[in-house]
Amino acid sequence: MKKFGLIGYPLGHSMSPFIHNELFKLNNIDAEYKLIEIAPEKLLSSADMLKELDGFNVTIPHKTGIIQITQALSEKAELFKAVNTVKTEGIITGFNTDCHGFLRALDTADIALNGSVLICGAGGVARMFAFESALAGATVTLAVRQTGIDKALAIKAEIKQRLNTDIFVKALDDITDCYDLVINATPVGMSPNTNDSILTLNQVKSCGAVFDAIYNPLETKLLSYARQANIKYSNGLSMLVWQAAVAQEIWLGVSFENDDIKRIIIKTQEELMK
Ligand code: NAP
Repeated sequence: MKKFGLIGYPLGHSMSPFIHNELFKLNNIDAEYKLIEIAPEKLLSSADMLKELDGFNVTIPHKTGIIQITQALSEKAELFKAVNTVKTEGIITGFNTDCHGFLRALDTADIALNGSVLICGAGGVARMFAFESALAGATVTLAVRQTGIDKALAIKAEIKQRLNTDIFVKALDDITDCYDLVINATPVGMSPNTNDSILTLNQVKSCGAVFDAIYNPLETKLLSYARQANIKYSNGLSMLVWQAAVAQEIWLGVSFENDDIKRIIIKTQEELMK
């Protein structure tokens, strides 16, 4: 039996074992997927235990620290300086499959990544969204509250340096323009604060599409505004399922059909609603 897992701290409830087990079933893979809590100060001393796994996923707070125990990085992991998937067979290699999850999730919802893209937030996932949007040729604006301005300016400087592309930084309260795509990369609206929304109905109603990285609840207040305004939208669940599928493609050399992944997204939604 192959052994996989998710490392992070704290882990609490995670949908990853459910999603990975559903994906294993599609390819008849005999494998287990465990949650492995590792406190930040124990990460390096856990390296030998981790190398005995066939592969593992990485979440907060280890996405950067884990790079110390890898021997190589994929192009995207190198670009984002963040690893969420590690392959232990052969050269221990760190990958970033969140970015593939994001692109595949947009594709699944028939949302194009071009034109003007507004990204709310300047944390880890906002940084990845900003790089991917800039790489896709979109005009990117980061919208942040006062405490996020330095982080947003650092992302702007990094994208200028690494991609030679200019992006814009604005205060969330000053968002009045229409954007082709609006992305929520903050925890605002996440359960239990489901009445909160990072933008108002007025700010999103004339936009082209909305993507929310949150998947609990499945429909955030922000996504309910998109539904009311009759514009395309997607929650973060398909990103979560797709990043897991891409991790298994890396670990096991398997591949997945879009329709199979769509079925697993629906099954995971049902599991979340239990
Ligand atoms: P992070 O690094 O902690 O960044 C959070 C960002 O949100 C920061 O820019 C923070 O700004 C901002 N923020 C927090 N509270 C805010 C508020 N009340 N008003 C305005 N901005 C606020 O987190 P992350 O890892 O990027 O994750 C962000 C979200 O994406 C989370 O909800 C996470 O669950 C979700 N996510 C989903 C997936 C998926 O697969 N679907 C993957 C990764 C993450 P300050 O600097 O001002 O605090």
